[in-house]
Amino acid sequence: MFERINGHEQVLFCNDPDTGLKAIIAIHNTTLGPALGGCRMRPYNSTDEAIEDVLRLSKGMTYKCAAADVDFGGGKAVIIGDPLKDRSPELFRAFGQFVESLSGRFYTGTDMGTTPDDFVHALKETNCIVGVPEEYGGSGDSSIPTAEGVLYGLKATNNVLYGSDDLSGKTYSIQGLGKVGYKVAEKLLEDGADLYVTDINESAIKRIIDQAEGLKGNVRVVEGNEIYSVPADVFVPCALGGIINDETIEQLKVKAVVGSANNQLLRDEHGKFLQEKGIIYAPDYIVNAGGLIQVSDELYSPNKARVLAKTKAIYDTLMEIYQKSNEQSISTAESANQFCNDRLTKRMKRNSFFSHKKRQKWNVRN
Ligand code: NAD
Repeated sequence: MFERINGHEQVLFCNDPDTGLKAIIAIHNTTLGPALGGCRMRPYNSTDEAIEDVLRLSKGMTYKCAAADVDFGGGKAVIIGDPLKDRSPELFRAFGQFVESLSGRFYTGTDMGTTPDDFVHALKETNCIVGVPEEYGGSGDSSIPTAEGVLYGLKATNNVLYGSDDLSGKTYSIQGLGKVGYKVAEKLLEDGADLYVTDINESAIKRIIDQAEGLKGNVRVVEGNEIYSVPADVFVPCALGGIINDETIEQLKVKAVVGSANNQLLRDEHGKFLQEKGIIYAPDYIVNAGGLIQVSDELYSPNKARVLAKTKAIYDTLMEIYQKSNEQSISTAESANQFCNDRLTKRMKRNSFFSHKKRQKWNVRN
């Protein structure tokens, strides 16, 4: 087991027979601050599968926090259970007690399979909870800054492609018109862009068609996998992970991929394949950090203006990543990882410098 969690600081197994809670909390790295990461609830087929998931996701959070320049490290939690059958207020209170036992080393909130309301119950046991509804002191809908971040990502990418941030006069193919995708689509239409869109939910399609009336841009609806082969400038994935793979790269006619969906690359090497095909890839965890920026900001008491200002930095971060990828002939995915590692290393040096100074002071006094 120790070999398996090599690289992680701490892994906590939480077992509460009274409520049926079986959860795992993984703290990957706290160089930048206490670990932060959502809590996912899924009917995992085995404990092994849950461990695999929580270790992978918590490591990803270390990079995401470093890229977004927030004072948190990487962590994640998973609850082994069916969200449709196994959730209860008591279960989330028990989970809250385990979070509290970590004494501020881990902050959490909603993720796949859990809702902000679940964490209102956990909040009764610990203050280390983010993203609860506004009436409980949370910062509200995180998809607003996430969509803003995607728009900044699109502007930075257009700058590289066309020498201007202008979003208008281009065609974007959007997969998924949910909380994030709809907001991005609406803004692009307002700016006079044309869209290809797809969603498995007909009401989401109807909503954007209705909204497009009176706006400058046009909407064309395509079915399912057709979205990969439409002649757009930029593909904007806002639904599923793993959609950049051998099959879809073959079909893509776009010049860039910029979207909110998590884990867009099926495997790391697909970042390289995009580069070889001359398609710019905006690493997902850089572009979709707006929601993380919002929940991490809650520690200073929620402030929307501050969150949006910080989300704007996604533009500059992405430009730096593009530039390094170009200079070093590496994929943008590799360049993003390098960017985060550099930030972590710099901070580690600063931390050790401070602790060294503190120790010196202590030695003088004693
Ligand atoms: P959402 O559930 O509100 O929207 C997803 C949309 O995708 C829905 O309308 C759904 O019908 C559609 N969809 C599902 N399967 C599809 C398919 N096969 N083809 C086309 N459409 C499909 O989710 P969201 O909050 O908008 O998030 C979108 C993506 O962005 C997710 O991958 C999410 O993990 C990621 N993300 C979201 C946030 C946030 O703040 N909401 C933050 C970071 C990352």
